[in-house]
Amino acid sequence: MLHITNPANGTVIAELPEDSAEGIAAKFKAARAAQRAWAATPLAHRLECIKRFRQALIDGRERLAAILTSEVGKPIKQARNELNGLLGRIDFFLAETERTLAPRTVHDEGGMREVIAHEPLGVIANISAWNYPYFVGANVFVPALLTGNAVLYKPSEYATLTGLEIGNLLHASGVPQDVFAVLAGGPRVGIELLKHAVGGVFFTGSYAAGKRIAEATAGRMIKLQLELGGKDPTYVCEDVDLAAAAASLADGAMYNTGQSCCSVERIYVHEKIHDAFVAAFVAEVRGFKRGEPTMEDSYIGPLTRAPQVKVLELQVADALAKGARCLLGGHKVEPPGNWFEPTVLVDVNHDMTVMREESFGPIIGIQKVASDEEAVRLMNDTEYGLTAGVYTRDEARARRILAQVHAGSVYWNCCDRVSPRLPWSGVGHSGVGLTLSTYGIETFTRLKAWHLRAA
Ligand code: NAD
Repeated sequence: MLHITNPANGTVIAELPEDSAEGIAAKFKAARAAQRAWAATPLAHRLECIKRFRQALIDGRERLAAILTSEVGKPIKQARNELNGLLGRIDFFLAETERTLAPRTVHDEGGMREVIAHEPLGVIANISAWNYPYFVGANVFVPALLTGNAVLYKPSEYATLTGLEIGNLLHASGVPQDVFAVLAGGPRVGIELLKHAVGGVFFTGSYAAGKRIAEATAGRMIKLQLELGGKDPTYVCEDVDLAAAAASLADGAMYNTGQSCCSVERIYVHEKIHDAFVAAFVAEVRGFKRGEPTMEDSYIGPLTRAPQVKVLELQVADALAKGARCLLGGHKVEPPGNWFEPTVLVDVNHDMTVMREESFGPIIGIQKVASDEEAVRLMNDTEYGLTAGVYTRDEARARRILAQVHAGSVYWNCCDRVSPRLPWSGVGHSGVGLTLSTYGIETFTRLKAWHLRAA
């Protein structure tokens, strides 16, 4: 049984059965049977279904945002922002799928034609995270459906109600029940799903779970994509507009209560402006209102997962024991609910877990550096590589630095940003494969090589 809990106050808001092993097997069998017919429908029909889904998101926005806030604790304005932001992503897929899937003739000479065409992978296992359930879910299931796959979607156990709503909206929009099925449950349900002969596994979540999934599917020769965690660094050079950089980075670190895969998790500041930057940054964070996520003016909400409160407490204690200073916050807030104060630590270094392990909460370490070389070395001193950024007025300098940084996405004077037009990927423990961009449409297909000689 799943007990869906409101992270703001600890009350159970729903109780639902988890999918059983038999239920998962039945959904897989039905999806496999239904996938061919779905792939055989004209693309125009599949596009029409996703257009209706898009409209349903608009029509249901307030209700869907309230559900998301109730189970994840996302402040209501940010819940609406996620739903609004999703529309642009859907528009990208609607605009680009036909062109991306078009067969390409690459040679036509002497009666011999060579054509590259796309085929769907089959049944996709889409195992997802809770922090942006609409974004990270739709990055997979929208292009997967458009390219003719069936999808078994396992939302995070922390975003089950949202996952079930997504299923209902897709079905009401014309996607057959068997082509898109929601599996409710935690890791056990994900493990069970992966026992079936899926054509691709698309996972978003932690490195620890991603590694287990890679091990569980090794040898299966199926497509495996893992979008995992990060310890995303930003370097602030001495020539910046201090106020603008501090405002942008405070938002990048604290938005969604710091629970974004691309949240700014570490900041390095040139020694010439370190103290002034820190003062401006702390002032920005002080201005963020922590409060009931249902309130319009709340910016910091609760942590979605109760155990993460302890993780943050330990990171702060470890940093303080090793010489850091805490300029703001640093404490959990007594229950009910999973609350942690927005926290700013300085005098940090890479012996501290707060600078090395994903925090996934409203907490940031700011470290002083003496040169670009030192900044690059520290930015790369991590197993992760999701995003990294530089703030400077000098584009050439930013490009020089960012070219040396190991990350899937790099930012100049911006942060915590995802674009549907650009591939979203990580290096190292941040994952393998990609979503978004036209490559993130193609990734749900296999390329077939056609050698055609007219008789
Ligand atoms: P998680 O790894 O705990 O869970 C993710 C999903 O995997 C859940 O649905 C869970 O039930 C399932 N799961 C867990 N263990 C499994 C197993 N052994 N087999 C099959 N399924 C299993 O992660 P989370 O707490 O939901 O999400 C937070 C993490 O996700 C953070 O590390 C964050 O950085 C990362 N994330 C990454 C991206 C990205 O695009 N790279 C986006 C969002 C979140």
